[in-house]
Amino acid sequence: MNHGGPLKAGAWLAAIGLPAWFLVGPLAALLAVGALALLLLARHERQIARLTEWAEQPLGAPLPEAGGAWGRAFMALHRRARQAAQQRAELQEMMERFRLAAEALPEGVVILDPGGTIEWINPRAELLLGLDGKRDIGMPVAHLVREPEFIEFLRRQKQAGEARAPLTVRPLRSPGRVLHIRGAPFSAGRTLLLVEDLTQLDRLETVRRDFVANVSHEMRTPLTVVLGFLETARDGVADTPPEEVAHYLDLALDHARRMQRLIEDLLTLSTLETDAPPQEEAVDVEALLAAVREETVALSGGRHEVLLESSGPAVLFGSSRELHSAFSNLASNAVRYTPSGGRITLRWHAQDGGAAFEVADTGIGIDSRHIPRLTERFYRVDRGRSRDCGGTGLGLAIVKHVLERHQATLAIRSKLGSGSTFAASFPAKRVG
Ligand code: ADP
Repeated sequence: MNHGGPLKAGAWLAAIGLPAWFLVGPLAALLAVGALALLLLARHERQIARLTEWAEQPLGAPLPEAGGAWGRAFMALHRRARQAAQQRAELQEMMERFRLAAEALPEGVVILDPGGTIEWINPRAELLLGLDGKRDIGMPVAHLVREPEFIEFLRRQKQAGEARAPLTVRPLRSPGRVLHIRGAPFSAGRTLLLVEDLTQLDRLETVRRDFVANVSHEMRTPLTVVLGFLETARDGVADTPPEEVAHYLDLALDHARRMQRLIEDLLTLSTLETDAPPQEEAVDVEALLAAVREETVALSGGRHEVLLESSGPAVLFGSSRELHSAFSNLASNAVRYTPSGGRITLRWHAQDGGAAFEVADTGIGIDSRHIPRLTERFYRVDRGRSRDCGGTGLGLAIVKHVLERHQATLAIRSKLGSGSTFAASFPAKRVG
């Protein structure tokens, strides 16, 4: 405790009062001391008024100037106010960091009050649920996300244990999305909703399911033919004319080969999808093109004119096995989809610092609406035609994968009835 103030005031009164008592008598001394006491009181009143005025000003207002005990009191108060302001600023900063962290979460977060009204929502949840924080905070969430299963899910949040199972929902407000929503009880009856986007996973699951269905479907027909023949053979073919037996044998062989091609293509695709990037070999383009040309001529069996125009770089960096598979897939498609008498041109030329391999045919062509989907597995313009000419529906999917692994792109130009050109463009770093 600081007694400086009262002691000092008392000392002043004594210092003036006592000599005055002896010099001018008691009455005058009392008057002098009284006047001095009033003066001191007025000074304290003034400091109290300044203190009140300062306290009423916003935080950070300059401290009134004062000496002595009042000065020290002002300083002490000022220090306290500064500490409090600093603590508040730190708290605010911490809150802001929490808010920013919640906003940056990859999951959507919604805080609901005990009545189910939105108290807070992060931008991710706004996007996923199709809500707008500015407009929808303060609204009951059940009025905005109206799917019956979501309403039921909200109701279950009040219960404990198993009943609070997560929800997978396709909200009407954000079409095409599949959301996974979990709820967690949160301070004083509030609910925290965590919203995850499963759209991509759901799409992958659909692709996987379609793929399995497609493979099974593709295998079923040839297997049925082979089985049918084997059963007939087991029951005895003694009475069947030999030509007929030969015909069925050929048919069964055809279908067995089809299954074999399908399995080979599936294995190639799966290797392309799972293997590490291709080994960097310096592929001799001239030899590669000669091999592809030879295969094309053999496959065509003289039904087409096959041309080779090569003016591009001598070396392509990548996997010779994969590049061979991609180039010959494009060339074999040209043979299979070009009627007899047509022309197939294999071209290799420099392009934009890199190079391009093109296969142009004068075949049946492709309607433009099919072009964007041709590289999907099992996508065919005409399923029957593709099967009849030995297609598996996987050739262009393989080409696409190989090219992606070599940072190359595939461009398809085609006109129904007059032919197609498939062009694979390689970047500069792939050629030499
Ligand atoms: P497929 O084994 O059926 O040929 P692909 O994946 O190689 O499978 O090709 C997909 C589809 O693209 C084919 O079924 C065919 O409809 C079409 N296509 C591919 N190449 C050509 C081409 N050169 N001319 C016309 N259509 C083609």
